Amino acid sequence: MNRSTVWHPFTQHALEPPMKRIVSTDGAYLTDENGKRLLDANSSWWVITHGHRHPEIMKAIRTATDSYDQIIFAEYSHEPAEQLAAGLIEIAPRGLSHVFYSDSGSTSVEVAIKMALGYFHNQGEIRDRIVVMEGSYHGDTVGTMSAGERSVFNAAYERLLFGVDRLPFPTTGDEQDTLDKFEDYCRLGRVAAILVEPLILGAGGMRIYGAAVLAGLKEIAEQHGCLFIADEVMTGWGRTGTQFACDQAKITPDILCTSKGLTGGSLPLAATLCIADVYDAHLSSDRRKTFFHSSSYTANPIACAAAVANLEIWRNEPVLERIARISALHRENLERFQNDQRFVNVRQSGTVAALDLVAPNSGYLADVGPRTRWLFRERGFLIRPLGNVVYLMPPYCVTADELGCAYEAIDEVASIVLGRS
Ligand SMILES: *Cc1c(COP(=O)(O)O)cnc(C)c1O
Repeated sequence: MNRSTVWHPFTQHALEPPMKRIVSTDGAYLTDENGKRLLDANSSWWVITHGHRHPEIMKAIRTATDSYDQIIFAEYSHEPAEQLAAGLIEIAPRGLSHVFYSDSGSTSVEVAIKMALGYFHNQGEIRDRIVVMEGSYHGDTVGTMSAGERSVFNAAYERLLFGVDRLPFPTTGDEQDTLDKFEDYCRLGRVAAILVEPLILGAGGMRIYGAAVLAGLKEIAEQHGCLFIADEVMTGWGRTGTQFACDQAKITPDILCTSKGLTGGSLPLAATLCIADVYDAHLSSDRRKTFFHSSSYTANPIACAAAVANLEIWRNEPVLERIARISALHRENLERFQNDQRFVNVRQSGTVAALDLVAPNSGYLADVGPRTRWLFRERGFLIRPLGNVVYLMPPYCVTADELGCAYEAIDEVASIVLGRS
Protein backbone atom coordinates (compact mmCIF):
# COMPACT_ATOMS: atom_id res chain seq x y z
CA MET A 1 0.00 0.00 0.00
CA ASN A 2 1.22 3.45 -0.87
CA ARG A 3 1.31 5.46 2.35
CA SER A 4 3.06 8.41 0.78
CA THR A 5 1.42 11.80 1.09
CA VAL A 6 3.20 13.02 -2.01
CA TRP A 7 1.16 13.83 -5.11
CA HIS A 8 3.38 13.22 -8.13
CA PRO A 9 3.31 15.09 -11.46
CA PHE A 10 1.61 13.56 -14.50
CA THR A 11 0.75 10.54 -12.38
CA GLN A 12 -2.55 8.71 -12.08
CA HIS A 13 -2.01 7.37 -8.58
CA ALA A 14 -5.02 5.07 -8.84
CA LEU A 15 -3.26 3.10 -11.55
CA GLU A 16 0.34 3.43 -10.51
CA PRO A 17 2.21 1.13 -8.10
CA PRO A 18 3.87 2.85 -5.12
CA MET A 19 6.76 5.03 -6.21
CA LYS A 20 10.20 3.52 -6.10
CA ARG A 21 12.57 5.77 -4.24
CA ILE A 22 15.79 6.75 -5.92
CA VAL A 23 18.62 6.84 -3.41
CA SER A 24 21.45 8.10 -5.58
CA THR A 25 22.42 9.25 -9.05
CA ASP A 26 25.67 8.94 -10.89
CA GLY A 27 26.59 9.60 -14.53
CA ALA A 28 23.93 8.03 -16.72
CA TYR A 29 22.40 6.02 -13.85
CA LEU A 30 19.81 6.19 -11.10
CA THR A 31 19.96 3.70 -8.22
CA ASP A 32 16.73 2.78 -6.47
CA GLU A 33 16.06 1.70 -2.89
CA ASN A 34 16.59 -1.97 -3.78
CA GLY A 35 19.98 -1.21 -5.26
CA LYS A 36 18.68 -1.63 -8.82
CA ARG A 37 20.48 0.55 -11.34
CA LEU A 38 18.52 2.21 -14.14
CA LEU A 39 19.99 3.78 -17.25
CA ASP A 40 18.48 7.27 -17.35
CA ALA A 41 17.68 7.24 -21.06
CA ASN A 42 15.41 10.28 -20.78
CA SER A 43 17.88 12.41 -18.83
CA SER A 44 15.43 12.71 -15.93
CA TRP A 45 12.83 14.54 -18.00
CA TRP A 46 15.37 16.09 -20.34
CA VAL A 47 17.34 18.15 -17.85
CA ILE A 48 20.57 16.18 -17.31
CA THR A 49 23.04 16.98 -20.07
CA HIS A 50 26.58 15.84 -19.15
CA GLY A 51 25.46 13.18 -16.67
CA HIS A 52 24.21 13.12 -13.11
CA ARG A 53 26.37 14.88 -10.53
CA HIS A 54 29.12 16.13 -12.81
CA PRO A 55 32.00 16.75 -10.36
CA GLU A 56 32.66 20.34 -11.48
CA ILE A 57 29.01 21.31 -11.05
CA MET A 58 28.78 19.63 -7.63
CA LYS A 59 31.95 21.42 -6.57
CA ALA A 60 30.61 24.80 -7.72
CA ILE A 61 27.42 24.21 -5.74
CA ARG A 62 29.34 23.33 -2.59
CA THR A 63 31.57 26.38 -2.96
CA ALA A 64 28.61 28.70 -3.58
CA THR A 65 26.95 27.56 -0.35
CA ASP A 66 29.91 28.96 1.59
CA SER A 67 28.79 32.45 0.55
CA TYR A 68 25.18 32.41 -0.55
CA ASP A 69 21.66 31.17 -0.12
CA GLN A 70 18.80 33.13 -1.72
CA ILE A 71 19.23 36.88 -2.21
CA ILE A 72 16.58 39.37 -3.28
CA PHE A 73 17.24 40.13 -6.94
CA ALA A 74 15.64 43.56 -7.16
CA GLU A 75 17.87 46.36 -5.85
CA TYR A 76 20.80 43.89 -5.54
CA SER A 77 22.81 41.67 -7.84
CA HIS A 78 25.47 39.02 -7.27
CA GLU A 79 28.53 37.68 -9.00
CA PRO A 80 27.17 34.27 -10.12
CA ALA A 81 24.22 35.97 -11.90
CA GLU A 82 26.47 38.57 -13.54
CA GLN A 83 28.99 35.98 -14.67
CA LEU A 84 26.32 33.67 -15.99
CA ALA A 85 24.52 36.42 -17.92
CA ALA A 86 27.76 37.53 -19.57
CA GLY A 87 28.60 33.92 -20.42
CA LEU A 88 25.14 33.27 -21.87
CA ILE A 89 25.31 36.32 -24.11
CA GLU A 90 28.68 35.09 -25.36
CA ILE A 91 27.39 31.70 -26.53
CA ALA A 92 23.83 32.63 -27.49
CA PRO A 93 22.92 33.58 -31.07
CA ARG A 94 24.57 36.93 -31.80
CA GLY A 95 22.40 39.96 -31.04
CA LEU A 96 20.78 38.78 -27.82
CA SER A 97 21.93 41.29 -25.24
CA HIS A 98 19.98 40.99 -21.99
CA VAL A 99 19.19 38.15 -19.60
CA PHE A 100 16.11 37.90 -17.39
CA TYR A 101 16.16 35.12 -14.80
CA SER A 102 13.38 32.89 -13.52
CA ASP A 103 13.16 29.37 -12.19
CA SER A 104 11.54 26.97 -14.64
CA GLY A 105 10.96 26.44 -18.32
CA SER A 106 7.32 27.46 -17.98
CA THR A 107 8.19 30.73 -16.28
CA SER A 108 10.86 31.49 -18.88
CA VAL A 109 8.17 31.24 -21.55
CA GLU A 110 5.67 33.28 -19.50
CA VAL A 111 8.38 35.93 -19.23
CA ALA A 112 8.94 35.79 -23.00
CA ILE A 113 5.22 36.27 -23.72
CA LYS A 114 5.03 39.18 -21.26
CA MET A 115 8.15 40.78 -22.76
CA ALA A 116 6.61 40.60 -26.23
CA LEU A 117 3.28 42.05 -25.12
CA GLY A 118 5.06 44.72 -23.07
CA TYR A 119 7.21 45.64 -26.05
CA PHE A 120 4.15 46.65 -28.07
CA HIS A 121 2.12 48.00 -25.16
CA ASN A 122 4.92 50.36 -24.13
CA GLN A 123 5.10 51.71 -27.68
CA GLY A 124 1.35 52.25 -27.82
CA GLU A 125 0.85 49.68 -30.53
CA ILE A 126 -2.07 47.26 -30.26
CA ARG A 127 -0.73 43.79 -30.93
CA ASP A 128 -2.16 41.00 -28.84
CA ARG A 129 -1.97 37.79 -30.88
CA ILE A 130 0.53 35.01 -30.27
CA VAL A 131 1.15 32.56 -33.08
CA VAL A 132 2.21 29.03 -32.18
CA MET A 133 2.72 25.71 -33.89
CA GLU A 134 0.15 22.94 -33.71
CA GLY A 135 1.25 20.17 -31.34
CA SER A 136 3.58 22.36 -29.34
CA TYR A 137 4.26 22.34 -25.62
CA HIS A 138 5.48 25.37 -23.69
CA GLY A 139 4.77 24.51 -20.07
CA ASP A 140 2.00 23.91 -17.56
CA THR A 141 1.15 27.37 -16.26
CA VAL A 142 -2.09 28.90 -17.54
CA GLY A 143 -0.29 31.17 -20.00
CA THR A 144 1.92 28.47 -21.43
CA MET A 145 -0.96 25.97 -21.55
CA SER A 146 -2.83 28.56 -23.60
CA ALA A 147 0.03 28.63 -26.08
CA GLY A 148 0.44 24.86 -26.11
CA GLU A 149 -1.65 22.20 -27.79
CA ARG A 150 -5.13 21.71 -26.33
CA SER A 151 -5.76 18.14 -25.31
CA VAL A 152 -6.84 15.93 -22.42
CA PHE A 153 -4.03 17.56 -20.42
CA ASN A 154 -5.76 20.91 -20.24
CA ALA A 155 -9.42 20.01 -20.85
CA ALA A 156 -10.38 21.01 -17.29
CA TYR A 157 -8.92 24.49 -17.72
CA GLU A 158 -9.73 25.03 -21.38
CA ARG A 159 -12.43 27.65 -20.89
CA LEU A 160 -10.06 29.98 -19.10
CA LEU A 161 -7.17 29.65 -21.53
CA PHE A 162 -6.57 32.55 -23.89
CA GLY A 163 -6.81 32.14 -27.64
CA VAL A 164 -3.76 31.91 -29.87
CA ASP A 165 -3.31 31.45 -33.63
CA ARG A 166 -2.02 28.05 -34.69
CA LEU A 167 0.13 27.04 -37.62
CA PRO A 168 -0.02 23.55 -39.09
CA PHE A 169 3.02 21.45 -38.22
CA PRO A 170 5.49 21.68 -41.15
CA THR A 171 5.47 18.05 -42.28
CA THR A 172 7.96 17.22 -45.00
CA GLY A 173 6.66 18.52 -48.32
CA ASP A 174 4.07 20.83 -46.73
CA GLU A 175 6.45 23.35 -45.21
CA GLN A 176 5.15 26.14 -47.43
CA ASP A 177 1.63 25.76 -45.95
CA THR A 178 3.04 26.56 -42.52
CA LEU A 179 4.86 29.64 -43.82
CA ASP A 180 1.85 30.83 -45.82
CA LYS A 181 -0.46 30.49 -42.86
CA PHE A 182 1.93 32.53 -40.74
CA GLU A 183 2.01 35.21 -43.38
CA ASP A 184 -1.82 35.26 -43.41
CA TYR A 185 -1.93 35.86 -39.65
CA CYS A 186 0.74 38.55 -39.90
CA ARG A 187 -1.19 40.45 -42.55
CA LEU A 188 -4.01 40.95 -40.05
CA GLY A 189 -1.60 43.22 -38.17
CA ARG A 190 -2.24 42.03 -34.63
CA VAL A 191 0.53 39.46 -34.22
CA ALA A 192 2.84 40.39 -31.35
CA ALA A 193 4.98 37.28 -31.52
CA ILE A 194 5.47 33.84 -32.90
CA LEU A 195 6.46 31.31 -30.25
CA VAL A 196 8.04 28.05 -31.42
CA GLU A 197 10.02 25.08 -30.23
CA PRO A 198 12.85 25.13 -32.77
CA LEU A 199 13.49 21.89 -34.74
CA ILE A 200 11.78 19.48 -32.31
CA LEU A 201 8.37 19.59 -30.69
CA GLY A 202 9.31 17.66 -27.55
CA ALA A 203 6.31 16.80 -25.39
CA GLY A 204 4.17 16.91 -28.54
CA GLY A 205 5.77 13.62 -29.57
CA MET A 206 9.35 14.38 -30.67
CA ARG A 207 8.14 15.75 -33.99
CA ILE A 208 11.09 17.00 -36.02
CA TYR A 209 11.16 19.65 -38.74
CA GLY A 210 13.85 21.38 -40.75
CA ALA A 211 15.95 24.45 -40.06
CA ALA A 212 14.77 26.05 -43.31
CA VAL A 213 11.23 26.37 -41.88
CA LEU A 214 12.62 28.08 -38.82
CA ALA A 215 14.58 30.52 -40.98
CA GLY A 216 11.47 31.10 -43.12
CA LEU A 217 9.30 31.89 -40.09
CA LYS A 218 11.93 34.28 -38.76
CA GLU A 219 12.07 36.12 -42.07
CA ILE A 220 8.29 36.56 -42.18
CA ALA A 221 8.25 37.75 -38.56
CA GLU A 222 10.87 40.35 -39.42
CA GLN A 223 8.96 41.57 -42.47
CA HIS A 224 5.84 42.12 -40.41
CA GLY A 225 7.51 43.58 -37.33
CA CYS A 226 6.48 40.82 -34.96
CA LEU A 227 8.81 39.24 -32.44
CA PHE A 228 10.25 35.77 -32.79
CA ILE A 229 10.38 33.75 -29.56
CA ALA A 230 12.42 30.54 -29.52
CA ASP A 231 11.43 28.19 -26.71
CA GLU A 232 14.77 26.38 -26.40
CA VAL A 233 13.90 24.95 -22.99
CA MET A 234 14.37 21.41 -24.30
CA THR A 235 16.41 22.00 -27.47
CA GLY A 236 19.12 24.13 -25.86
CA TRP A 237 22.46 22.86 -24.59
CA GLY A 238 23.24 20.57 -27.46
CA ARG A 239 20.14 18.42 -27.66
CA THR A 240 19.72 18.92 -31.40
CA GLY A 241 23.44 18.72 -32.18
CA THR A 242 24.32 22.41 -31.82
CA GLN A 243 24.48 24.56 -28.70
CA PHE A 244 21.07 26.01 -29.53
CA ALA A 245 18.71 24.71 -32.21
CA CYS A 246 18.44 28.23 -33.68
CA ASP A 247 22.14 27.97 -34.58
CA GLN A 248 21.24 25.45 -37.30
CA ALA A 249 18.91 27.95 -38.95
CA LYS A 250 21.53 30.68 -38.47
CA ILE A 251 18.93 32.95 -36.91
CA THR A 252 18.86 35.13 -33.83
CA PRO A 253 15.46 35.02 -32.18
CA ASP A 254 14.28 38.26 -30.58
CA ILE A 255 13.64 36.33 -27.38
CA LEU A 256 15.13 32.98 -26.35
CA CYS A 257 14.00 30.80 -23.43
CA THR A 258 16.39 28.36 -21.79
CA SER A 259 16.09 26.19 -18.72
CA LYS A 260 16.44 22.41 -18.61
CA GLY A 261 20.16 22.00 -19.39
CA LEU A 262 21.15 25.43 -18.11
CA THR A 263 22.62 24.09 -14.85
CA GLY A 264 23.52 20.78 -16.49
CA GLY A 265 20.25 19.65 -14.90
CA SER A 266 21.51 20.00 -11.35
CA LEU A 267 19.31 22.80 -9.99
CA PRO A 268 16.21 24.66 -11.15
CA LEU A 269 16.98 27.83 -13.06
CA ALA A 270 15.77 29.53 -16.22
CA ALA A 271 16.70 32.50 -18.32
CA THR A 272 14.91 34.51 -20.97
CA LEU A 273 17.33 36.32 -23.28
CA CYS A 274 16.25 39.22 -25.46
CA ILE A 275 17.56 41.70 -28.00
CA ALA A 276 18.23 45.33 -27.06
CA ASP A 277 15.00 46.56 -28.70
CA VAL A 278 12.88 44.51 -26.30
CA TYR A 279 14.85 45.71 -23.29
CA ASP A 280 14.83 49.30 -24.52
CA ALA A 281 11.04 49.28 -24.95
CA HIS A 282 10.86 48.82 -21.17
CA LEU A 283 13.51 51.44 -20.43
CA SER A 284 11.91 54.74 -19.53
CA SER A 285 11.64 57.44 -16.90
CA ASP A 286 7.98 56.44 -16.87
CA ARG A 287 7.69 53.73 -14.20
CA ARG A 288 4.61 52.28 -15.86
CA LYS A 289 6.91 50.86 -18.54
CA THR A 290 8.80 48.71 -16.02
CA PHE A 291 8.89 44.99 -16.74
CA PHE A 292 6.64 43.79 -13.94
CA HIS A 293 7.70 40.23 -13.33
CA SER A 294 9.51 38.33 -10.62
CA SER A 295 9.50 35.06 -8.79
CA SER A 296 10.83 34.75 -5.25
CA TYR A 297 13.70 32.51 -6.24
CA THR A 298 14.76 34.51 -9.28
CA ALA A 299 18.47 34.05 -10.04
CA ASN A 300 19.18 31.85 -7.05
CA PRO A 301 22.95 32.31 -6.58
CA ILE A 302 23.68 28.62 -6.01
CA ALA A 303 21.79 27.65 -9.16
CA CYS A 304 23.58 30.45 -11.06
CA ALA A 305 26.94 29.13 -9.79
CA ALA A 306 25.98 25.65 -11.05
CA ALA A 307 25.16 27.17 -14.44
CA VAL A 308 28.48 29.04 -14.52
CA ALA A 309 30.20 25.69 -13.92
CA ASN A 310 28.14 24.25 -16.77
CA LEU A 311 29.43 27.02 -19.07
CA GLU A 312 32.97 26.08 -18.01
CA ILE A 313 32.32 22.46 -18.92
CA TRP A 314 31.14 23.55 -22.36
CA ARG A 315 34.36 25.58 -22.69
CA ASN A 316 36.76 22.94 -21.38
CA GLU A 317 35.34 19.58 -22.36
CA PRO A 318 34.62 18.18 -25.85
CA VAL A 319 30.84 18.38 -25.33
CA LEU A 320 29.95 18.90 -28.98
CA GLU A 321 32.09 15.89 -29.94
CA ARG A 322 30.25 13.74 -27.40
CA ILE A 323 26.98 14.93 -28.87
CA ALA A 324 28.14 14.16 -32.41
CA ARG A 325 29.15 10.67 -31.25
CA ILE A 326 25.71 10.02 -29.72
CA SER A 327 24.10 11.35 -32.86
CA ALA A 328 26.12 8.88 -34.99
CA LEU A 329 25.30 6.02 -32.61
CA HIS A 330 21.59 6.82 -32.85
CA ARG A 331 21.85 6.74 -36.64
CA GLU A 332 23.57 3.34 -36.65
CA ASN A 333 21.20 1.81 -34.13
CA LEU A 334 18.07 3.19 -35.77
CA GLU A 335 18.92 1.54 -39.09
CA ARG A 336 17.60 -1.83 -37.99
CA PHE A 337 14.19 -0.28 -37.30
CA GLN A 338 13.85 1.49 -40.66
CA ASN A 339 12.01 -1.34 -42.41
CA ASP A 340 10.57 -2.82 -39.25
CA GLN A 341 6.79 -3.28 -39.51
CA ARG A 342 6.44 -2.65 -35.79
CA PHE A 343 7.56 0.97 -36.11
CA VAL A 344 6.94 4.05 -38.23
CA ASN A 345 8.48 7.53 -38.35
CA VAL A 346 11.96 6.47 -37.33
CA ARG A 347 13.67 9.81 -36.76
CA GLN A 348 16.50 11.61 -35.08
CA SER A 349 17.85 15.06 -34.33
CA GLY A 350 21.15 15.33 -32.47
CA THR A 351 20.94 13.36 -29.22
CA VAL A 352 17.21 12.74 -29.58
CA ALA A 353 16.01 9.59 -31.36
CA ALA A 354 12.37 8.58 -31.66
CA LEU A 355 10.19 5.97 -33.32
CA ASP A 356 6.46 5.35 -33.20
CA LEU A 357 5.27 1.95 -32.11
CA VAL A 358 2.49 0.75 -34.41
CA ALA A 359 0.11 -0.16 -31.63
CA PRO A 360 -3.64 -0.31 -31.98
CA ASN A 361 -5.33 2.25 -29.75
CA SER A 362 -2.15 4.21 -29.19
CA GLY A 363 -3.13 7.64 -27.85
CA TYR A 364 -1.25 9.12 -24.93
CA LEU A 365 -3.67 7.59 -22.46
CA ALA A 366 -3.58 4.10 -23.94
CA ASP A 367 -2.27 1.34 -21.68
CA VAL A 368 0.59 0.73 -24.06
CA GLY A 369 2.43 3.69 -22.49
CA PRO A 370 2.56 2.49 -18.85
CA ARG A 371 3.00 -1.12 -19.94
CA THR A 372 6.10 -0.36 -22.01
CA ARG A 373 7.39 1.87 -19.23
CA TRP A 374 7.24 -1.02 -16.74
CA LEU A 375 8.81 -3.46 -19.19
CA PHE A 376 11.71 -1.05 -19.70
CA ARG A 377 12.09 -0.60 -15.98
CA GLU A 378 12.29 -4.35 -15.41
CA ARG A 379 15.15 -4.38 -17.90
CA GLY A 380 17.01 -1.57 -16.14
CA PHE A 381 16.04 1.40 -18.31
CA LEU A 382 14.26 4.64 -17.59
CA ILE A 383 12.44 5.02 -20.90
CA ARG A 384 9.04 6.72 -20.81
CA PRO A 385 7.22 6.66 -24.13
CA LEU A 386 4.96 9.59 -24.98
CA GLY A 387 1.90 7.51 -25.86
CA ASN A 388 3.22 5.23 -28.60
CA VAL A 389 6.28 7.40 -29.26
CA VAL A 390 9.35 5.62 -27.93
CA TYR A 391 12.34 7.90 -27.66
CA LEU A 392 15.84 8.06 -26.25
CA MET A 393 17.36 11.31 -24.98
CA PRO A 394 20.38 10.18 -22.95
CA PRO A 395 22.88 12.24 -20.98
CA TYR A 396 26.04 12.91 -23.00
CA CYS A 397 28.18 10.54 -20.90
CA VAL A 398 26.26 7.50 -22.16
CA THR A 399 28.48 4.84 -23.77
CA ALA A 400 28.04 3.06 -27.09
CA ASP A 401 27.36 -0.19 -25.22
CA GLU A 402 24.71 1.36 -23.00
CA LEU A 403 22.94 2.90 -25.98
CA GLY A 404 23.16 -0.40 -27.84
CA CYS A 405 21.50 -2.15 -24.90
CA ALA A 406 18.76 0.48 -24.80
CA TYR A 407 17.99 -0.24 -28.45
CA GLU A 408 18.00 -3.99 -27.71
CA ALA A 409 15.46 -3.31 -24.98
CA ILE A 410 13.28 -1.32 -27.38
CA ASP A 411 13.37 -4.23 -29.82
CA GLU A 412 12.43 -6.74 -27.15
CA VAL A 413 9.78 -4.64 -25.42
CA ALA A 414 8.11 -3.82 -28.75
CA SER A 415 7.70 -7.52 -29.48
CA ILE A 416 6.20 -8.18 -26.07
CA VAL A 417 3.79 -5.26 -26.28
CA LEU A 418 2.69 -6.20 -29.78
CA GLY A 419 2.42 -9.87 -28.81
CA ARG A 420 4.93 -11.02 -31.41
CA SER A 421 7.73 -12.46 -29.35
C1 LIG B 1 9.83 21.20 -20.42
C2 LIG B 1 9.47 22.29 -21.34
C3 LIG B 1 8.89 23.48 -20.86
C4 LIG B 1 8.50 23.65 -19.41
O1 LIG B 1 9.59 23.62 -18.56
P1 LIG B 1 9.35 23.36 -16.98
O2 LIG B 1 10.70 23.56 -16.40
O3 LIG B 1 8.86 21.95 -16.88
O4 LIG B 1 8.35 24.35 -16.52
C5 LIG B 1 8.66 24.50 -21.75
N1 LIG B 1 8.96 24.38 -23.05
C6 LIG B 1 9.50 23.25 -23.56
C7 LIG B 1 9.84 23.19 -25.00
C8 LIG B 1 9.76 22.17 -22.73
O5 LIG B 1 10.27 21.04 -23.23
